[in-house]
Amino acid sequence: MNIAVLALQGAFAEHRQMLQRMGVDSFEVRQASDWCRPKDGLIIPGGESTVQLKLLRDLNLLEPVREAIAGGLPVFGTCAGLILLAKQVEGEAHMRISTMDIVVRRNAYGRQSGSFFVKDRFAGKPIPMPFIRAPYIYKVGDGVEVLAEVGGKIVAAREGSQLVTAFHPELTSDTTVHSYFMQLVKRAL
Ligand code: GLN
Repeated sequence: MNIAVLALQGAFAEHRQMLQRMGVDSFEVRQASDWCRPKDGLIIPGGESTVQLKLLRDLNLLEPVREAIAGGLPVFGTCAGLILLAKQVEGEAHMRISTMDIVVRRNAYGRQSGSFFVKDRFAGKPIPMPFIRAPYIYKVGDGVEVLAEVGGKIVAAREGSQLVTAFHPELTSDTTVHSYFMQLVKRAL
């Protein structure tokens, strides 16, 4: 199994380290030629969604990535990755990857006090959840399963083989969310 990790900006190295600890191979996608490599799943890291979107467009990666996800390639988006996957982002009309039926509010906890740490349940299991200027999901479509809520706000969800978290599991040593993603990848093989 080989997981592509979008490595244009943000916390991609931490995702690769997490996969490595789990014994899963991965490679970095920095340009269109990297995208041609065979892959069983894709991780879109946290960082700055506006910067990642611009680079995806400039590098001619946006369409191929969207098509692959629409075609069933399992994807895991954290934070900025969640924003890129959302069909709707409050106050923004432009297209992103826009494959997941969720409505998202960016910098939802305020810009200054937006970083915090909690332990809460993901798919029923308590795990550490670091939030960094995080978005949250305030509406999900019919086909979307809510996997975590913190303070009454949806912070993790799944639609088919698309998984998103508003927090950063890759910044912890807990492999629960990445293992969950790898189950989606295995199921899609
Ligand atoms: N607020 C950032 C954005 O809009 C996301 C923050 C993060 O990925 N930690 O892209």
